[in-house]
Amino acid sequence: MHNYPWKSAGICIFAPHADEVDRFCAFVKDVFAKDGIDTIVMIIRYNYLFESHPECRGDWPLSKEDVRKMAAACRECGINLIPDMNLLGHQTVQDYIDPDGLLRSHPEFSETPITEAPEYSYSLCPRAPGLFELLCDLIDEIADAFEATDFHVGIDEVFYIGMCDRCKDSDPGDLLADWLCRLHTHLADKGITMWMWGDRLLNSYECGHGPWDASMNGTHTALGRVPNDIVITDWHYHNWPRFPSVEIFARAGHPIWLAPFNVAENAKLFLDYAKEHDGGNIVGIMETTWVPISYLMDALEGKPAKPSEKWYPGSMPHIVRCYKSIFRPDEPWDPMPEDDE
Ligand SMILES: [Zn+2]
Repeated sequence: MHNYPWKSAGICIFAPHADEVDRFCAFVKDVFAKDGIDTIVMIIRYNYLFESHPECRGDWPLSKEDVRKMAAACRECGINLIPDMNLLGHQTVQDYIDPDGLLRSHPEFSETPITEAPEYSYSLCPRAPGLFELLCDLIDEIADAFEATDFHVGIDEVFYIGMCDRCKDSDPGDLLADWLCRLHTHLADKGITMWMWGDRLLNSYECGHGPWDASMNGTHTALGRVPNDIVITDWHYHNWPRFPSVEIFARAGHPIWLAPFNVAENAKLFLDYAKEHDGGNIVGIMETTWVPISYLMDALEGKPAKPSEKWYPGSMPHIVRCYKSIFRPDEPWDPMPEDDE
C-alpha cells in the first residue's frame, strides 16, 4: 500500500487472454492483494463472447465463466474488479489501424470513414442511428458477467468528434456532454457507478498540457454539464511543472483517482503535487500499465522480460520500477533501467 494520504490503491491492466485466466487469479492473491491493491480497472474492450451481438466480439474473447472466475478471485481478496470498454474513442486494436470488434462488423458507426491507414484510432459517432442501443446491450452483458458495481467507459483521446455530416454543425463539448449523460443514465438505472478518463474534460490551454493529457478540440466544455458522481481517472505521465487537473476536478466535484504510468520520478511529481493541492476528492492512486498482463505478471514475479510491447519499447522495467516505488514504499527504488529503443 502506498504512503500517500488517500485510502485506495488501484491498477489499470489489460484483460488476460482466456488461457491466462487461472494464472491471473492466482496472481491477484499472491501479488496484487499483498501489495494492498483494492481496485482493478480491467480493459476488456470488445474481448468478450457477446451473445446479443456476436459479430462484435474482439480477437481474444473471454467467456462469462472466465470473467466470473476473475471477479470471484478479486472479491475474495477484497478487490473491486471494474470492467473498462472504450465507448467513444480507441476503436482500433493495438496497432491503432485495424478496427476493433464493433467497427469491424459495423463500420457505419465510425465518425470518420474506415481507411487503410487512419491518422489515429477511430472514434464512434455519438449520433449514429442504432449505436447507443447496441452498446447498451454490450454494456449489460459485460456488467452482468462482472457483477459490476462500477463501469469504466473509456473516453480518452477522442480526436475524431464533430466531423461527420450528422455532427459537424454541433459543438464538440455539447456532443460529449450529451453522450456522457446518456451513458450515465443507462448505468445509473442499473445502480452502477460510471468511471471515465479525464483528458477530454480538461482544457489544454488552461492546463498547459499537450493534446493527449487535455483537449484541444473543444470537448472540455462538457465538464460541469455531466453528473459529478462520475469517477475520473486523471492520467498524467510527464514531468509537468504543475497538474491543475487536480484542482479543476475538485472544483467540479468529481471523485478522482490519480493515474501515473511508467516513470517513477514523474509519478512522484504528480502525486506530490496532488497531495499539496488536494481538494478532498482524491480516492486513491491507480497505476496504468499499457502492456499485456502476462508481461506485467512475469516482471513482478522476477521472470526474464519478453520482447517489449511495441507501443512502449523498453517500458516494462520502468512500469515495474514505478509500481514498486508507489505500492512498496519501504523497498528502495530499483536503479533506472536502460532503454532498449
Ligand atoms: Zn458523428
